Amino acid sequence: MTCLTLSRASVNQWRADAKRFASFTDCVELRIDLLRSMGNAAIISEVAAFARSLHKPTILTVRRVADGGAYDGPEADRLDLLNALVESVEPTYVDLESDLTEVSGAAVVEETAGRIGTRIIRSLHDLQGVPTDPCGALDSLASKTGEIPKLAVAPQGTRDLHRVFRAYSHARREFGGDFILLGMGRFGFPTRILAPALGALLTFTSVPGAEAAPGHIDPETMRTVYLSNRIGSATRIYGIIGNPVLHSRSPHYHNPRFAKDGIDAVYVPFPTDDVAEFFELAATLSVQGFSVTIPHKESVMRHLVSVDEGSEAAGACNTVIRNVDGSTRNGRAGGGFRGVNTDIPGFLAPLRELFGADGIAGKRATVIGAGGAARAVCYALVAAGVSVLVLNRTPARSARLAREIEKIVAAEHAEIRSGPLDASGFAAAADFRDIVVQTTGVGMAPNVEADPAEGLSFGGTEVVYDIIYTPEYTRFLRRAERSGCRVVTGAAMFARQAEEQYRLFLSVYER
Ligand code: NAP
Repeated sequence: MTCLTLSRASVNQWRADAKRFASFTDCVELRIDLLRSMGNAAIISEVAAFARSLHKPTILTVRRVADGGAYDGPEADRLDLLNALVESVEPTYVDLESDLTEVSGAAVVEETAGRIGTRIIRSLHDLQGVPTDPCGALDSLASKTGEIPKLAVAPQGTRDLHRVFRAYSHARREFGGDFILLGMGRFGFPTRILAPALGALLTFTSVPGAEAAPGHIDPETMRTVYLSNRIGSATRIYGIIGNPVLHSRSPHYHNPRFAKDGIDAVYVPFPTDDVAEFFELAATLSVQGFSVTIPHKESVMRHLVSVDEGSEAAGACNTVIRNVDGSTRNGRAGGGFRGVNTDIPGFLAPLRELFGADGIAGKRATVIGAGGAARAVCYALVAAGVSVLVLNRTPARSARLAREIEKIVAAEHAEIRSGPLDASGFAAAADFRDIVVQTTGVGMAPNVEADPAEGLSFGGTEVVYDIIYTPEYTRFLRRAERSGCRVVTGAAMFARQAEEQYRLFLSVYER
């Protein structure tokens, strides 16, 4: 189930929020602690009337400050309020914390809940990390018959996240679908998407701008981007690793395509601070393949059974897929993975469209920048028969890049030279003007007015390509367009590399 946590300050706002997301939610959590500007009598009558109008399962929660909520009054008053609310609202579930058993008043709430048929969610919130033994923590939360254990933890990195994922199979075995297990914050984000597919009762969502807990997304995004109504225990898991990675547009590309093509798969962003541990996590979740972004494109390669020629040449790999032949990585369980660089075909595809499949060989190109992306671009161009002049702010770096590419690509008809990103470099570029490629991050949002090569003017006949994709049209590209040049955007490259990744993901998809 997808549960909408109502977290705004009035019941009128709750009504509007519940209505707005009605078609994307299966259940609603009433966060009474966030209604604190109202008196108790008004809360009880208004919430009861509102809950009756919902026609959906409800969770009643009065969360304390210590557990990440807003209730800071005396505990006895909170339990009185909870008891009165259970009586009048008759919620499907009431959230009671794990340390309440000794507190006087809790027994009264439990007795009322039992009489009405409200199920108790027995919760423990660890806002600092993940308990040493999450399975044991869940077991103790479930010590009373009929109660639903809820463990919400705060993974601080990939290792913690993996420990949380490992606890799902234990929970599924012990409690069937009657448990809640979630990771909060950035590193916990994948659990928000996958919890129901891994057997948990529900996942929580919030209204945008009023997130009730770190890592909540809104129910519409959960449904339309993360396919919450389609995924289940048979769903194949794909994803993207990086740090940061939650801003990535890749889930917005791959998930709708899975849905459109009737593929039972989901693509999840995994913030990752430990690549080796991610491979262990990938074995636990049977991850079929994943994209790789900054800062792991280089380091991921040492964990792979093999990489394609493009990854080898670029020294970076942006796509990892499971070996279909079942070979294992260093004898470890979970199978091995191989790497492919789809930035290279993704970069070339729009140029082949402009020049024709065979029209690109023999062209001459200037490449601005000598970083990781430039390396893939230079390799792609030279391997395709394009002669390249690479210009960089630090000329030693462009000289080294040129030497390395020359060594890898023994091209008969293409050469690679280097120079500084200044007037002398721009003068040399006069002889490499069919294509101009901008590969630095200069001009990327938020610094959209920056231009990495102010001194380079365009004649109007060049094809000018900027691989930055936010914004789609950089200042550099707009300048080229004004001069009459044909332009290619980083968005086009992104779409083509994603298309190629999608094709590779499908190649290892098993129904
Ligand atoms: P990188 O390895 O950090 O390379 C940075 C390059 O930018 C270096 O050559 C650096 O020159 C140069 N540079 C930095 N600041 C500069 C300045 N103020 N003036 C002139 N040059 C400057 O980065 P990367 O991984 O190559 O990524 C670069 C861009 O490519 C990013 O915007 C990324 O989003 C984009 N990208 C797009 C796609 C796509 O699908 N469209 C795919 C991959 C990457 P020095 O050597 O002098 O420091």
